[in-house]
Amino acid sequence: MQDTAGTVAVLATGGTIAGTAERATDNIGYSAAQLGVRALVEAVPALAEVPLVTEQVAQLDSKDMDFAVWAALAARVAHHVARPEVAGIVITHGTDTLEETAYVLQRLLAPAKPVVMCAAMRPATALLRDGPQNLLDAVTLARQPGARGVMAVLSGTVHSAFDVRKVHSYRVDAFGSGDAGVLARIEEGQVRRLRDWPAGEPLGLDRIASGDWPWVEIVTSHAGARADGVRALVAAGVKGLVVAGTGNGSLHHALENALVEAQQAGVAVWRSTRCLDGPVQMKSGDRLPSAGTLTPVQARIELMLQLMRA
Ligand code: ASP
Repeated sequence: MQDTAGTVAVLATGGTIAGTAERATDNIGYSAAQLGVRALVEAVPALAEVPLVTEQVAQLDSKDMDFAVWAALAARVAHHVARPEVAGIVITHGTDTLEETAYVLQRLLAPAKPVVMCAAMRPATALLRDGPQNLLDAVTLARQPGARGVMAVLSGTVHSAFDVRKVHSYRVDAFGSGDAGVLARIEEGQVRRLRDWPAGEPLGLDRIASGDWPWVEIVTSHAGARADGVRALVAAGVKGLVVAGTGNGSLHHALENALVEAQQAGVAVWRSTRCLDGPVQMKSGDRLPSAGTLTPVQARIELMLQLMRA
């Protein structure tokens, strides 16, 4: 019987890593989410040596990620984390919303084992495909003794779920960790750790058990901003608004007035920044609370999870 200690559960959700194009030279005109999880694993001969269990949790282009897939994925991750023979979990995912899925899983589960997201910027049919190496690196990290928390691995670089963000639309090395810096590097199958593993208190799956995710939108402050968009959202029943402000969360006066009105009407409003890095620091006279160091998309998820509090 095969030794199952150190098993890695590979949970597939689609994305470019599972994408195919008609020509090997086509890096953008492909269809995402075409290959199943077995095909992804079989493309990496070195994985034949590793005890794996595989599951196809979803099959979608991650631009279309939704709450039902998040709930299903979180439940399967929790299931595998609880199995003693499982060392870690790998999730194959699209790059477009990878940072959102990473953040929501970390906040819900704060897993005591490594949960490693991996993706690719080139489809599986490309001349220079990055998916197989990223998958191998993800499995390496999922078996790393002492590792924990939700992370992402691409281009030999490990990012924490708290910091990962897609920073380039085309380059293979498309992810960054902002001010915080990368968590680790993977070189020739060795993990070189630079910072602590992601940790924190899990909110728990009960938080999303109702399946009723409140409607929270992101609006942006910019030159010539108007109040009308925010007023229309409030009239339509939005429950929360995250504003991506300029600089230190500053807001065009027309937008700020509309957001304060929204807050007075009972809508939760958080201020983040459209800057690529840096927090929003509160100062006297501020009328809207800061989202701290959260990016606008992270702040939106956090606000939804806070509004779902039992
Ligand atoms: N649209 C694709 C996705 O997010 C892009 C990718 O995976 O690189 O699924």
